[in-house]
Amino acid sequence: PMRLAIVGRPNVGKSTLFNRLAGKKLAIVDDQPGVTRDRRFGVGRIGDIDLELIDTAGFENVSDDSLEARMRQQTETAIEEADVALFVVDAREGVTPIDKVFAELLRKHDKPVILAANKAEGKASDAGVNEAFGLGLGEPIAISAEHGEGMADLYQALLAVWPEVDEEEDEDADKPVRIAIVGRPNAGKSTLVNKLIGEDRLLTGPEAGITRDAIPVDWTWEGRPVRLVDTAGLRRKAKVQEKLEKLSTSDTIRAITFAEVVILVMDATHPFEIQDLQIADLVEREGRGLVFCLTKWDLVENQGARLKEIIEEAGRLLPQLRGSPVVALSAETGRHLDRLMPAVFKVHGDWSTKVKTRDLNDWLQMALERHPPPAVNGRRVKPKYMAQTKSRPPTFVLFATRADQLPDHYRRYLINSLRESFDLPGVPIRVTVKSNR
Ligand code: GDP
Repeated sequence: PMRLAIVGRPNVGKSTLFNRLAGKKLAIVDDQPGVTRDRRFGVGRIGDIDLELIDTAGFENVSDDSLEARMRQQTETAIEEADVALFVVDAREGVTPIDKVFAELLRKHDKPVILAANKAEGKASDAGVNEAFGLGLGEPIAISAEHGEGMADLYQALLAVWPEVDEEEDEDADKPVRIAIVGRPNAGKSTLVNKLIGEDRLLTGPEAGITRDAIPVDWTWEGRPVRLVDTAGLRRKAKVQEKLEKLSTSDTIRAITFAEVVILVMDATHPFEIQDLQIADLVEREGRGLVFCLTKWDLVENQGARLKEIIEEAGRLLPQLRGSPVVALSAETGRHLDRLMPAVFKVHGDWSTKVKTRDLNDWLQMALERHPPPAVNGRRVKPKYMAQTKSRPPTFVLFATRADQLPDHYRRYLINSLRESFDLPGVPIRVTVKSNR
């Protein structure tokens, strides 16, 4: 969906437009406790474009001195959240000084802006529409939110900026997949990296001790660009002091932040030590994809049975990461090394998944029927509609009546069902629940 922020000064008709685009049933008020009331969120559609709407109308009742500052701040936030800003002015009133302030604010961001001159029904508004040209934000689109006029023009204008966003996403195909290799000292990271990208490459790496930073290295795997950062492997080996080092938390955090997929390297003879669990948990909380790599597998006996045990252990210790691939290999002998990158790319693909809104809602109906939400105080929480707001990691918003009463176990049921139905093992899935009225 296109995330569309509706911005403009009070009383130009933003809420009316919001309601028209959202459709009555889907007009949403975000009422999570503690969340500011100054922005409304909703989903809607214009032509064949799915919309995630962000409305900044909520502060219109406020009339104290803080209004302008809050208006500015809410607008800034809304623009940042959006793909496209829809700037609404009042065609009957013409351009006011506050409109000019908004125009200035919008120019500072590099988001596409569509300028709409609202209340443009009838001839009396022509002058106002023309005046809006002067804002320097392109041709104003004359609309009437109340009467539903100009919606086709608005659609065309949105369509004109939307493909840019799509193309941008296509470019991602050529962008390197960012991978981090992390783990405890002596887990076997350096040996693995050496084997993975070749010794030669590492000889050109930085001298040990020159920098503590994790250094990215570009390489390709089966023709696909990969950018790798690891927290130790790129420093030259065989320094006594390095082997005495503790796990460098800041290096690990930096590497995880950098990465799309994290390979957590563990010594197969002692997997899932406390630090491994902490790293894995951090990866999940940061929303990265994760591959468990059990190296030194050549030292393990009864490999088949042991692997089963370890996978079980992983599910028990890290239920939030159930389904993440576990690859057992030996960097030393090279055995099963060829299984690592396919697992990484599978996770990366899942992590980037975009589910069609229609499929999502078909699935939602199925999931609700299979296991209806529980009644709370005799009243049922009714999930209504779901939309994916972002990928990487897959992030969804569920609109429901009495959303604040949806039990967390039910949210987890939905996440697990999503994971299964859309085959997304091993990636964090986010679902936030919002209230609709
Ligand atoms: P790092 O600190 O995580 O980079 O770990 P290193 O790659 O330096 O490895 C620590 C020790 O484990 C070294 O003595 C390696 O030779 C050894 N090692 C690494 N990978 C393997 C493996 O697959 N099999 C065996 N048997 N030993 C390994």
